[in-house]
Amino acid sequence: MEPGNRARVEAWLRYGSDLGLGPYYRDRAVPETAVMATPGAGVESLDQPSQAMAAAAGQTDAGSTLAFAQPAVSPAASVFPRSSPAVSLAQEPSLFEASDRIEGDTLGLIRETIGDCTRCKLHKGRTNIVFGVGSMKAQLVFVGEGPGRDEDIKGEPFVGRAGKLLTQMIEAMGLRREDVYICNVVKCRPPENRLPEKDEITTCSPFLFRQIDVIRPKVICCLGSCASQTLLQTTQGISRFRGEWFDFRGSKLIATYHPAYLLRNPNAKGEVWKDLQKVMAVLGLQPKRK
Ligand code: URA
Repeated sequence: MEPGNRARVEAWLRYGSDLGLGPYYRDRAVPETAVMATPGAGVESLDQPSQAMAAAAGQTDAGSTLAFAQPAVSPAASVFPRSSPAVSLAQEPSLFEASDRIEGDTLGLIRETIGDCTRCKLHKGRTNIVFGVGSMKAQLVFVGEGPGRDEDIKGEPFVGRAGKLLTQMIEAMGLRREDVYICNVVKCRPPENRLPEKDEITTCSPFLFRQIDVIRPKVICCLGSCASQTLLQTTQGISRFRGEWFDFRGSKLIATYHPAYLLRNPNAKGEVWKDLQKVMAVLGLQPKRK
């Protein structure tokens, strides 16, 4: 279907969904288990990874103990009532889901399609397109917002300060950077590290969806508001839904705070570690031992 028509039809379906209409087909009905909230599942000792993450964020020992104190248990899935458009949309398989997937697609093909992209205004200020890095067989995909200065120069996502913290987080989970896949919503650096704008996200996100479709990870971990709002098609603040499980085209999706936010707000590291522990429980991972 022509992309403009598709967007219009999807907007109508979303409108219908907001009005409480649908699902239009019996097999689209969402089972109650679609929200897989698993508060506190499989929680391990927080000490070692917390310290690693604290060290990466430049914290003192005393500070890290405080920062990684267990936050209060987050509210269950009820933050999003079933009628909430944001979540009902994210949970329900898109009418286009099956036909959306490109038969025989590969990461190489996607990169080739992007080419020397001039589709949006971000191309004007970029040095390198930052496509994504990691294993195409990854069970876990991290999605960030967009490249910063270091990433733009190197052509690789999450290599600056926030990236170093992300690497610490990955290692704290008992993984290596090369075991996961890391990418962003937009592939070119927004000027002055501003937030990507709506038209830029709309233009670039189909490539992200294709990357996810090719990898088909067990878990997608959205880092920050931009990634989670883009994938969940919501404008709600991340603190409303972080740590909860959603379905995204057959993968489990969880949102957590962006590592750059953690650098500014180290007190949030405990909450992030709890989210990562939920991911670890799903993937059967043990935290890294010293
Ligand atoms: N922040 C992001 O969201 N992505 C990067 O690649 C780097 C920093």
